[in-house]
Amino acid sequence: MTAGLRRRERGRLSNYGNRGETMGKNIVLLGPPGAGKGTQGQRLAEKLDEPHIASGDIFRQLRGQDTPLAQKVKGYMERGEYVPDDLTIRVVLERLSQPDARQGFILDGFPRTEPQAQALDNSGRSVDVALYINAPVDVLVERISRRYTCPKCHAIYEASRRSPKKEMTCDVCGAPLERRADDAPEVVRPRLQTYLDKTRPLVDYYERLGTLVEIDGAQTIEVVEREVDRALRLPAG
Ligand SMILES: [Zn+2]
Repeated sequence: MTAGLRRRERGRLSNYGNRGETMGKNIVLLGPPGAGKGTQGQRLAEKLDEPHIASGDIFRQLRGQDTPLAQKVKGYMERGEYVPDDLTIRVVLERLSQPDARQGFILDGFPRTEPQAQALDNSGRSVDVALYINAPVDVLVERISRRYTCPKCHAIYEASRRSPKKEMTCDVCGAPLERRADDAPEVVRPRLQTYLDKTRPLVDYYERLGTLVEIDGAQTIEVVEREVDRALRLPAG
C-alpha cells in the first residue's frame, strides 16, 4: 500500500530547523477527506499550542461580522459565487494576525490555489511545513463509507478505527451519530478525484520550495502520529 506513495521526508525542512525549538511553527495541512488530516490537525494544535484554523470556520465567523471586508465576502457567498483569491487571502491573513496565531498556526483548507500559497509565503507568515497526508483512493473510499458524523458538533467517527465509546453516540456532546448520504462510495470517489487533481499544483509548489512533507495516511493512526512528530521534530507522545 505504501509503495505507491512518494516519500519526500529525507533532507527536507532545512529552513525550518533554524527556527529553533521554542518558536512556533507555521503549518499547512493538505490531504483528501479520509486520510486523517483533521485528526492530526487537532492533535498538533494541542501539542504545539497553536490554533487549528479551518478556512470553512473563518468564513462562517464572517457571517456575524460587519466590517467592510466581511460585507464584501458575504456578498459573494450570498450570491453563491466563488470568493476571489485576493479577498480570501485578506480574510485568512486577518485571522492569522490575531493574538492566538502570532506564534504559529495550523491552516486547514487554505491555501487552495498556488496564487493563494504564494500570497501566504509573501505575507511575512511563510509556511514552514506543508504536511500532506495522503492515502490510496480505495483506502479513502473504504474509510469514508464506514464513517459516522455528529450532526451537532461535527466530530467524525469511523467504525472499527475510531469508534465512539458508546455505540452510535457522540463522545463529545452525546448526540446520536449519523451516516451522511454524501459519504456513499459512488459520491465519494469523484469527489476525491477532484480534490486530488486540484491539490496537485499545491503539492508541487511546496515540493519545489522544499517544505513539503508527505505522510502515508493508510497506516494506523499511531504510526501516522509518530511520522508527523518526527517530520516536525517534535518530541514523541
Ligand atoms: Zn457531538
